[in-house]
Amino acid sequence: MIQEIKREMEAAKADMLEFERKLVQIESYTGKEEAASKLICAKMKELGYDEVVIDPYGSVLGRVGDGDTEILFDAHIDVVAAEDAEEWEHGPFSGDVEDGIVWGRGTVDTKSSAVAMVYAGYLMKKLNLLEGKKVYISTSVMEEDFDGELLDRVMTGNNLHPSFAVIGEPSNMKLALGHRGRAMYVIRTKGISAHGSAPETGENAVYKMAELITRVDKLNQKLSAQEGEKGSVALTRIESRSASLNAVPDGCAIYLDRRLALGEDEAKVAAEMDELVAGTDAQWEIYDAKGTSWTGKPVVLRTFLPAWEAKKDEPLAQAGIRAYREIMGRDPELFKWDFATNGFACAGRYHVPTIGLGPGDYVFAHQKNERCKVEDIENACMFYVGLVANL
Ligand SMILES: [Zn+2]
Repeated sequence: MIQEIKREMEAAKADMLEFERKLVQIESYTGKEEAASKLICAKMKELGYDEVVIDPYGSVLGRVGDGDTEILFDAHIDVVAAEDAEEWEHGPFSGDVEDGIVWGRGTVDTKSSAVAMVYAGYLMKKLNLLEGKKVYISTSVMEEDFDGELLDRVMTGNNLHPSFAVIGEPSNMKLALGHRGRAMYVIRTKGISAHGSAPETGENAVYKMAELITRVDKLNQKLSAQEGEKGSVALTRIESRSASLNAVPDGCAIYLDRRLALGEDEAKVAAEMDELVAGTDAQWEIYDAKGTSWTGKPVVLRTFLPAWEAKKDEPLAQAGIRAYREIMGRDPELFKWDFATNGFACAGRYHVPTIGLGPGDYVFAHQKNERCKVEDIENACMFYVGLVANL
């Protein structure tokens, strides 16, 4: 079987690279993925997928096979900005290929995963590996600002109930078994405006916040002193409101990025936030991220996303390890991602056994000179095919 997968990959790899370059050349910023989604939709049809739809939010879902066991693959196709374009060695939307490396924004995060998955679906079908299986390839939109939310909508909107899921985020060809959770909180203080020349007649909302800021720092010290996998908290933005530069601010807000260790739930962090504001009149709430899809639909993410993990001895991880050995000729290195992924939907919300692997080194994600080895894309594609064969 492995020889057949390698032979078919050899036959398809030039087309796959061409497709990769075209996809990278599209500036598919979050909420602006229309051209990328349409390119993928057309490619899936050209490759003979059994069904291809663009969902109401603009994500593409392709299916091959119609057996009972559902397997879901997902990679996102939105990319972060490339504001330092002139500093890149190859333009961020060049899709240049040189010395076996493809350059551009999204080559790591995560267009190469999407490309490898699209071709993996094609190869599974061509090699008749879909007996009793139904494989969905989702190339979802808006992941960068809405972790998991759009994959959630792909799943619920298409009534998917997968037995297994695979997330394509860069793993430097290691096998990912989960990541920490992420929550965003806003804390607000209120003051009383006064003329800047007579501050003692008002109440400064920023001064009230100052005490809370020191408490946030202390909370992080407490979290980081814990044993094993730990949560963290960082103040990532502060805002204040004042009538003018000669007025005492009557409102202040801080935004907290709270990373969640496995098992840290909403109730636990709520108690922590209550303690943080204790003795003050400050208010806290979970932050709602808001945006609009390229299809014009509003998207809201209530940002409390628990951590998840896959167990090494469960069937999916075991199949992944076997497939990896077959394709790569060695055991995979197992690890957990540092960052958040769409795994929040399948693994976090719906408890679908989920693992991750994607081409490219994650150190290049969101960085200038983002680039990926072409060989990684081919190996990831073959790994996805091998994984389905092993399930
Ligand atoms: Zn990213």
